Amino acid sequence: MLSDAIATNPSVTLHLATRVEDFAAHRNGLTVATLHRMSPTEHHGSILIGADGLWSALRQRLGHREEPQFAQHSAWRALVPAERLPSSLRAASVNLWLGPHAHLVHYPVKGGSLINVVAILRDDWREPGWSAYGDKTEVLARFPAGRWQAPVRDLIGAADRWQKWALYDCAPLQRWGRGPVTLLGDAAHPMLPYLAQGAAMAIEDAAVLTHCLARTDDHAAALRAYEDKRQKRTARTQKAARRNGTVYHMSGAAGMLRGIALRTMRGTGLLRRYDWLYQWKPE
Ligand SMILES: Cc1cc2nc3c(=O)[nH]c(=O)nc-3n(C[C@H](O)[C@H](O)[C@H](O)COP(=O)(O)OP(=O)(O)OC[C@H]3O[C@@H](n4cnc5c(N)ncnc54)[C@H](O)[C@@H]3O)c2cc1C
Repeated sequence: MLSDAIATNPSVTLHLATRVEDFAAHRNGLTVATLHRMSPTEHHGSILIGADGLWSALRQRLGHREEPQFAQHSAWRALVPAERLPSSLRAASVNLWLGPHAHLVHYPVKGGSLINVVAILRDDWREPGWSAYGDKTEVLARFPAGRWQAPVRDLIGAADRWQKWALYDCAPLQRWGRGPVTLLGDAAHPMLPYLAQGAAMAIEDAAVLTHCLARTDDHAAALRAYEDKRQKRTARTQKAARRNGTVYHMSGAAGMLRGIALRTMRGTGLLRRYDWLYQWKPE
């Protein structure tokens, strides 16, 4: 979708394989230094939006020195051809299995032809990146028979290829940008994936930022207005995602109580608790 939008908009130029190295703000806007295949270039512009993800160099450059903290969890992802699974595991819904120190999510993608499976485990493995090879026997061993129900193990067993990421977390930032520079998405508010909201928040950011920029020619004022509108909501979502991780992985008596609470609340009660999240509308 983004690529198509760029292709039809002559005012957008996409520079692939180009690393933003640094920026300097001055009276007439700013200059951004980039590196493309060892070749440095300078670009001039009015504003700079750092959407450079969890390990954002721009966030650091803006003076936020705190590094993301390893969350002691890893996320394992696989795509399973739907025809390998019984119909109960192919339903068009998001399914969540909870257990001690692990959980597993699955839902259909690609028109229902594939099932996306994500398993989250407590783990010490912490290499950055998002596509390291994952060993199926390792993930299967973390969902042992007897403790986990058969469909969970069937799903894991049906996947051929696993990739894994180490998960990192950051406390909410009080202030995002400065002058003609701001942050967006994971660069501004990296969050654990336990509420499935990281990309959703980045998309909301983009909608609000567009609106703020359209309302005034004062770019710095527009960026501060955008940050004001987004900071509280994204910080709340970061904290709620972190809390979900704790609840999802409870064991023993706490896990049993969680099960009873979920059964009592039912789907509608659970969803109502998230009205602040899902009922949000941009101005
Ligand atoms: C296991 C898992 C499951 C998830 N599930 C969901 C979900 O169901 N729903 C949801 O909404 N979110 C989910 N997320 C979160 C989501 O993936 C992220 O929040 C989202 O990708 C953030 O988008 P972004 O554009 O801010 O950053 P990124 O996707 O990290 O993109 C940043 C980009 O910046 C580039 N970059 C970095 N540094 C530089 C530089 N110096 N110069 C130029 N470019 C640079 C990177 O190469 C990258 O392409 C999940 C995350 C994980 C790990």
